[in-house]
Amino acid sequence: MTISVQCACGKNYNTSTANAGKRFACKACGNEVVVPGGAQDDVAATIAWVQEQRDAGHTRGALRQQLVTHGYSEDEAHELVDTALGTPDQIAARRGASRRARSGAMETDSGGDGAGWLIWIGILLLINLLSWIFDWPFWVY
Ligand SMILES: [Zn+2]
Repeated sequence: MTISVQCACGKNYNTSTANAGKRFACKACGNEVVVPGGAQDDVAATIAWVQEQRDAGHTRGALRQQLVTHGYSEDEAHELVDTALGTPDQIAARRGASRRARSGAMETDSGGDGAGWLIWIGILLLINLLSWIFDWPFWVY
């Protein structure tokens, strides 16, 4: 069975699963490439690989998918990506803080209940119009 591994420079390599966890020098750019997968003692290498791939522009989801493709379980892949890039909780905390800052700015920006006021005028005009059409006894002056 072969696995494919991509160097940060974009060059793809196909290698045997027996090489999982091993490192080699990229023929195109000379950078060290780590073959994903392998035994537990290769976790550090895989984490380094995940960080390299993230820096190369891969998303967390894509990285998890790659790890799963290369023999890790869904949970292992999740944990490895979290270990390498920070847990979702840490990221959510950072995101939540910036979102709160943004929504605070929006509250001060919006013009209060201007829209509600327009709706009431609309309803009033509609009642007047219907009263006029159907000769209802509740004209509003
Ligand atoms: Zn390369």
